[in-house]
Amino acid sequence: MVRPLYEKYRPKEPIKAYTGNLRCKTWDAEAALRMMENNLTDLGEPRYRVAKDWKNLIVYGGSGRAARNWLEYQRIRDVLINLEPDETLCVQSGKAVYIAQTDREAPRVVIANSNLVPRWATDSHFDHLDELGLMMYGQMTAGSWIYIGFQGILQGTYSTMHHAGLQKGGNYPNPLEGTFTLTAGLGAMGQAQPLAITMNGGVGLIVEVKEEKIDNLLPGKDNSFPKLDEKARDLKDALERVIRYKQSRTPKSIGLVGNAGRTHPEIVEMAKKNREYLPDFVTDQTSAHNLENYIPVEYTKEYQELIKTNPDLKKEEYEDKSQETMINHMKAMLELRGMGSVVFEYGNGIRAKIEAAKSGGKTYAPAMREVQPVFDENGNPVVKNGKTVEREQYIYPGFVRKYIRKLFCQGKGPFRWATLSGLEEDIFAIDRVVEKEFASDPELKRWSELAREYGSIFFQGLPSRVCWVAYGDRARLGLRINKMIRDTKIKGPIVIGRDHLDCGSVASPTRETEEMLDETDAVADWPLLNFALNALCGASWISFHSGGGVGHGLSMHAGMVIVADGTKERDRRLERVLTIDPGIGVARHFDAGYKTAEEVVRKKGVKIPAQKYQYE
Ligand code: NAD
Repeated sequence: MVRPLYEKYRPKEPIKAYTGNLRCKTWDAEAALRMMENNLTDLGEPRYRVAKDWKNLIVYGGSGRAARNWLEYQRIRDVLINLEPDETLCVQSGKAVYIAQTDREAPRVVIANSNLVPRWATDSHFDHLDELGLMMYGQMTAGSWIYIGFQGILQGTYSTMHHAGLQKGGNYPNPLEGTFTLTAGLGAMGQAQPLAITMNGGVGLIVEVKEEKIDNLLPGKDNSFPKLDEKARDLKDALERVIRYKQSRTPKSIGLVGNAGRTHPEIVEMAKKNREYLPDFVTDQTSAHNLENYIPVEYTKEYQELIKTNPDLKKEEYEDKSQETMINHMKAMLELRGMGSVVFEYGNGIRAKIEAAKSGGKTYAPAMREVQPVFDENGNPVVKNGKTVEREQYIYPGFVRKYIRKLFCQGKGPFRWATLSGLEEDIFAIDRVVEKEFASDPELKRWSELAREYGSIFFQGLPSRVCWVAYGDRARLGLRINKMIRDTKIKGPIVIGRDHLDCGSVASPTRETEEMLDETDAVADWPLLNFALNALCGASWISFHSGGGVGHGLSMHAGMVIVADGTKERDRRLERVLTIDPGIGVARHFDAGYKTAEEVVRKKGVKIPAQKYQYE
């Protein structure tokens, strides 16, 4: 059974976000419509390609969709165009279901996607409803209409690598200078890795089975945005180059054609003989979360591709081989860790897959958990009553626990904005303001410099910018942008939003809330508070989703977007929304006992109920 898409309602021409005069009665409704169109943009050329598969309404991340089917896409459009300034459209898993009489300061759209009662939140139950045409997977920013393409992925990977370098003693602005990062996977998300490493001054070796993926990223006449510097076919040759670049402190990325299940064990053996070959950092972005997509050493293609030519190939056989390769891959990562490399997971679920293999009968798979000291957001062991706190945890941490949590404590996260007019110069004008007026945040300043250096090459669809902006600065920047519009320094309205992967808007125990200090990894009250607050404070549209990033039943998260239209009245709403949205994130981390959040609360006057009553 296939999910119904009602193709007869699909537009004849590919979609591109409209940038002309108002079609709707408010800029809030217009912005929601333009951003939904933007998510589905694909004119065939990189500058105007946002969606992964627009004909199937898929924006990114497996099957993350913008609307349930084409009929619903058209219905949402119609409703938004006719929506009164005091009405709110309710969208249930990509379907327009109700027009509520609200008020002018209420959100114009309220979205709920892919939410199932916890015991039913499984892949099979979701797929059943999806095939009946009753549900839609919204990922994080696909169904909430604030996806901006590769730039968002790149910035998150850049920030992770930046903090990896800083935590290991590297220096700003290029903390990876003179270091070697080993990773694998150059797919949709993984292709951000080479640039994220070189933008931080480091040398990266990225192993990828499919040679064409490497070729597509290299500089060449057909590639307007090369993301990888060099290709290698031989491991020894690749490592010799790595050492050369590392010694001369030359940022460089090399794509090595190979399978991580084979190359990584070889690197271990080579590093045993020569420490120069030992990577400083090891991570992974192969599609380990799905055994059908992870490629065993016996093949060069994924299962879905292989059965087109080998219909007899049994799925169980393929997955068994996948597990074998993954176990070798993991054993090598752990050996490198034992030899001194810093190893962390970048959200691909490889640790959980190895655990599943072990409990599923492959007893020789390495144990992935052990009792270890609990680390704080600075990477220091937590001491209570003179004793180091210990707990059973993954042998090596995920990227949020290790590098991003400290940013979350400060209310920092993937804040972003896009022009509704399509004018690139409006984004550059804001960049200049960020560089000048927000320079006290060195990371923000550095990213703005890089964004300027790369110019419009980052833009896909409506020009946009992502910056990890902190509590306090988000509201200040929102007001500044609104004033720029009022003073005609910017020509059109700007939408301001963020990924759901943010400080106070997500519960995802294997990623964003992994190994919280107070063990509240699975507590999902926080994203619900975030959702309610954004509604009360007047965001332009808000969303609540489940399963984004990691799969059904594994995460719950909220999104918000607000339009800066240049009016004085909008100042108040912008200030409110852009304060409370990261504010609940700071509170969440304060409540969990993080000292950095405590400092932010104190310095920035975040209102937390009085601490005079103390738990023992
Ligand atoms: P993708 O499927 O587009 O690409 C995966 C790549 O890995 C493919 O190019 C494939 O050929 C390669 N590959 C598979 N098995 C291999 C092997 N054994 N050796 C070498 N290469 C192999 O996936 P993607 O979108 O790039 O994402 C990669 C993974 O990273 C996913 O699991 C994703 O969920 C995760 N991810 C998480 C975050 C996050 O948590 N914020 C961000 C980005 C990516």
